[in-house]
Amino acid sequence: MFDFDVLKKEMEELEEKGLLVKIRTLESPQGAWLNIEGKKVLNMCSNNYLGLCFDEELKEAAIDGIRKWGVGPGAVRSIAGTLELHNELETELARFKKVESTLVVQSGFNANQSVIPPIVSEEDAILSDELNHASIIDGVRLTKAMRYVWKHKDVDDLEAQLQKAETDGARRKLVITDGVFSMDGDLAPLPQIVEKTNKYGAILMVDDAHGEGVLGSHGRGIVDHYGLHGSVDIEVGTLSKAFGIVGGFVAGKRVLIDYLKQKARPFLFSSSLSPAETAAAIAAVRKLSSSDELVKTLWSNSDYFKEQLKALGFDTGHSETPITPVMLYDAKLSAAFSKRLFEEGIFASSIGFPTVPKGKARIRVMISASHSRKDLDFAVSKFELIGKELGVIK
Ligand SMILES: *Cc1c(COP(=O)(O)O)cnc(C)c1O
Repeated sequence: MFDFDVLKKEMEELEEKGLLVKIRTLESPQGAWLNIEGKKVLNMCSNNYLGLCFDEELKEAAIDGIRKWGVGPGAVRSIAGTLELHNELETELARFKKVESTLVVQSGFNANQSVIPPIVSEEDAILSDELNHASIIDGVRLTKAMRYVWKHKDVDDLEAQLQKAETDGARRKLVITDGVFSMDGDLAPLPQIVEKTNKYGAILMVDDAHGEGVLGSHGRGIVDHYGLHGSVDIEVGTLSKAFGIVGGFVAGKRVLIDYLKQKARPFLFSSSLSPAETAAAIAAVRKLSSSDELVKTLWSNSDYFKEQLKALGFDTGHSETPITPVMLYDAKLSAAFSKRLFEEGIFASSIGFPTVPKGKARIRVMISASHSRKDLDFAVSKFELIGKELGVIK
């Protein structure tokens, strides 16, 4: 019999290092304020950027979707599980993203597994920013391609890696970057990356999970933010963050999407989004297309909060988005800070290794359009209190 005590011991070691993940259960729906363990706390760690998780229009759309289409798709999409609703969502998304076509899958995680393995094999090279998301790394692991990692946002190093791949005789070169880096909130230098990938005839793929609904006009994402429509070959997005639902998608040329429908394993071997999710996603895309009000509120909230924290003397890293890391570096300090915040009515998780590198622990504050100015002021006052108490600020 396997001795499961070894697993217990491993978790005890994690706890000693301040790295054991504490999973809190929400006793109320996702929103600006939550009930957790009988306590009312300000929510500062969800990806519910636009407050759409509990949006009335989306909820109504989901209920209508269930009434009309039921609760499950009944099969994988390639056999008998493609509902008109799925096609409608893909068409709406393509229009929103200004691309020829999209493929919707169960999650952003699955979207990376859907697109990376089909387009490269052992004759090819994948080039990846060292801080790319775990789902990209796992997508890469599913291939036999040669791998090259470039230093975070360092386009000169990207070029050096492209040259290496060429020297190694790679047939195709697939360059992959996060659009927004989820733990630091900084942006990929996409215009410069486009320049390099063009120079070396590489394929460029951007995973814009934290950019969808956040960056660009109406939240169209990082490609729109930089005005690079037509210059990025593959976009991966999620419906699980700003869109407030769950799901992921690949956006690009029609021929790519048609090909993925033949080859992508999460599409071929796992059932699709349910009618409720799909209908809610259509409503979310329509809502964003028709108004950019929520996106604007999100940005003004995040600018305000960051300014206040910086004025207090906190180190908020290099964020260029509503993701606001409060850098504490030490995992134990970060865990203690998060615990004190919770006691004071603020839910903001401490993030440590392996989600971020060792010695780079932080509280990651996620700003939402659902926060009021009063909520943000409350949070700032608590950060000040605890920052002074723990000697982080003077
Ligand atoms: C969150 C995230 C994902 C996963 O998205 P899900 O829809 O939650 O599976 C993928 N890529 C990046 C860069 C992310 O930040």
